[in-house]
Amino acid sequence: MKPFTYVAPTSLQEAHQVLARAKGPGDVRALVGGSDLIDQMRVNRRTPSVVLDIKRIPEMKRLEWVPGEGLHVGAAVCCTDTVQFAAVVQNYSSIHESCQLVGSTQIQNRASMAGNIGNSAPSADTVPGLITFGAKVLVTGPRGHREVLLESFFTGPGQNVLAPDEIIQEVIVPPPPANSSGHYLRFIPRNEMDIAVAGVASMIVLAPRTRRCTTARIALASVAPTPVRARAAEAVLEGKEITAALIREAGEKAVEAASPISDVRGSAEYRRELVKVLTRRTLGMCMESLGQKVG
Ligand SMILES: Cc1cc2nc3c(=O)[nH]c(=O)nc-3n(C[C@H](O)[C@H](O)[C@H](O)COP(=O)(O)OP(=O)(O)OC[C@H]3O[C@@H](n4cnc5c(N)ncnc54)[C@H](O)[C@@H]3O)c2cc1C
Repeated sequence: MKPFTYVAPTSLQEAHQVLARAKGPGDVRALVGGSDLIDQMRVNRRTPSVVLDIKRIPEMKRLEWVPGEGLHVGAAVCCTDTVQFAAVVQNYSSIHESCQLVGSTQIQNRASMAGNIGNSAPSADTVPGLITFGAKVLVTGPRGHREVLLESFFTGPGQNVLAPDEIIQEVIVPPPPANSSGHYLRFIPRNEMDIAVAGVASMIVLAPRTRRCTTARIALASVAPTPVRARAAEAVLEGKEITAALIREAGEKAVEAASPISDVRGSAEYRRELVKVLTRRTLGMCMESLGQKVG
């Protein structure tokens, strides 16, 4: 492991001073749970000269539901606290589901959504659900704040739009639309502690007391260099009565957004098949949650 300096500032201002001295991409790396970062440093996959522990900064611990604004999850909030937060339980099933899939109870007690996002793996489980709800990340640094739509955040495996002097301060999830439901499923070869072979989050909005879909959002994990939206599948659903046949068609279309690789976890062909199945299942779960069982 390359030698590094550990700093644990207690204010955003102090963190900004550390970030201002960043010598280039990855020179200063934020640390929350360390469940990705520490092992990556051990094998020299990430070689920061400064590790910036953000857990003592009050703004990073924000966990709040603001009516009209939505959910604010500070970067240092662990998955366990997110899962137990009432607004997450009530309003965002897919986020509730995905945070409970990250590793194990022990991992969830340390790991954060911001770390899942900052690590920027295509397999990140918390990301597809967040994308379907139109989540943004609030980015902070010595040059100020900016908001980035999560679906535009990732630029490649392990890569994102953050500048060397920027970190995530919080994840902001807009309030869910009325009469909406979202769910996330992933496939792994065993029950837990594995990385998704493929993952799908779906979110649909129905016109009141009907099966007519007004909005559909579908996002995929582990089947492209970054998490991706399956826009063609969304278009199949929007403006139409949701039926079992339409859900099957959406599953077929979702594959258009996938450009999977073959690796030890599964072949590209297998992953494409999983996208179809998981899209169908998550859409069926959304309909069921809205009291409109299909097929
Ligand atoms: C046994 C095990 C099982 C796992 N299972 C899963 C799983 O099922 N699903 C899954 O998706 N992941 C899994 N992971 C990966 C990991 O736990 C998650 O990605 C987790 O969410 C990372 O959060 P963290 O707080 O530990 O991040 P850290 O390790 O602290 O950070 C991860 C990366 O994000 C960056 N980062 C952290 N915070 C910020 C910030 N505020 N701003 C900018 N960048 C930041 C860090 O610099 C680092 O590069 C697993 C890991 C282990 C060890």
